[in-house]
Amino acid sequence: MIDLKEKTVLQDARIFGPMSEFEHEQVMLCHDKETGLKAIIAIHNTVLGPGLGGTRFFNYSSENDALRDVLRLSRGMTYKAAISGLNLGGAKAVIIGDPNVLKSEGLFRKFGRFIQNLNGKYITAEDVGTTTRDMEYISMETKYVVGLPEIKGGGGDPSPVTAYGVFMGMKASANYVYGTDSLNGKTVAVQGIGKVGWHLVERLYKEGAKIYVSDINDTQLKKAASEFGAIVVDSQDLFDLNIDIFAPCAMGAILNTNTIERLKCSIVSGAANNQLEHEDEHGTMLKEKGIIYAPDFLINAGGLINVYSEYTGYNREIALGQAEDIYDTTLEILKTANQENIHTQKAAIMLAEKRIRQMKSVKSTI
Ligand code: NAD
Repeated sequence: MIDLKEKTVLQDARIFGPMSEFEHEQVMLCHDKETGLKAIIAIHNTVLGPGLGGTRFFNYSSENDALRDVLRLSRGMTYKAAISGLNLGGAKAVIIGDPNVLKSEGLFRKFGRFIQNLNGKYITAEDVGTTTRDMEYISMETKYVVGLPEIKGGGGDPSPVTAYGVFMGMKASANYVYGTDSLNGKTVAVQGIGKVGWHLVERLYKEGAKIYVSDINDTQLKKAASEFGAIVVDSQDLFDLNIDIFAPCAMGAILNTNTIERLKCSIVSGAANNQLEHEDEHGTMLKEKGIIYAPDFLINAGGLINVYSEYTGYNREIALGQAEDIYDTTLEILKTANQENIHTQKAAIMLAEKRIRQMKSVKSTI
């Protein structure tokens, strides 16, 4: 018996408004009482191919927050795939609840069944709160899953490929600003030396850069100092450093009014997702300060490139080769932004949208 007094997500959430605003194709709500599964799959755009995007497992404070997050993230995936030249669309999924409490074989396999029902329109992967083990459970019910462990034919940890793409984006930005892409002797501050940050610091060290690091994990900091001679900086002081390049590799929204005002660098080029707190406002603020910003969704696409390679038959060399193309795309975007007098994030979105428009036209011929 349905309790009509109880508010449901359909009564609470405004679904079609945001779907229409961001131009989403499809949103699927998945529910299973037995396993406690409550998930939302958002398919933003499949013009270029099936929507690929990870499944985030998070204890959202409301169903509306979960919906907003999945709509925002899936749209970002469309741009990331398009600008990377991949034949993939944009999608994402969220599972609502505390992963420490809710995770079970049954929940992931049930979720796998929902994915299978979409017949390949959505391909999932690991994201915040999910692991390769969870992907293995999903793979028992659907073939539309990537990010499996290497021993199961997957591509393993994508972070080295992501770091390589970020490094390429950084070198292209250096080429644009200094006329040479050598980072030898350049001062680079890396915020967050986790999976991606670590591999990036390693490449910077080999290139001869002077490296500053900050993290909330002291063990990582000590390791980076002893292995790469990195100088440890307090998180609070990071934005006041007189450096050439700032590489945010920890959390999003790190480029905001407060931090941009303090920055004294020529380039921002890092792995973190959604670095600009407000895309237009803070993209413009960086431009006006004369700081070259390498768009995050372009230069951190190595992870997506890596899982795409898994989808088409995994080969790390091919994945790294594709991540190398980030160099040329970054240069193209920096030049376009300058010619059009727009901020670089906008130039990157315009390029992604152009490819989608063109492929839509290509595919309109039967
Ligand atoms: P991670 O969790 O391994 O590393 C993040 C690091 O940042 C950790 O060492 C953490 O201690 C540190 N950190 C957290 N808060 C901090 C703070 N306030 N100041 C300084 N350091 C802080 O994550 P990751 O996989 O290396 O990803 C880093 C970023 O890159 C994330 O934003 C992620 O979304 C993005 N990204 C990662 C990949 C990938 O392949 N892993 C792909 C694309 C984008």
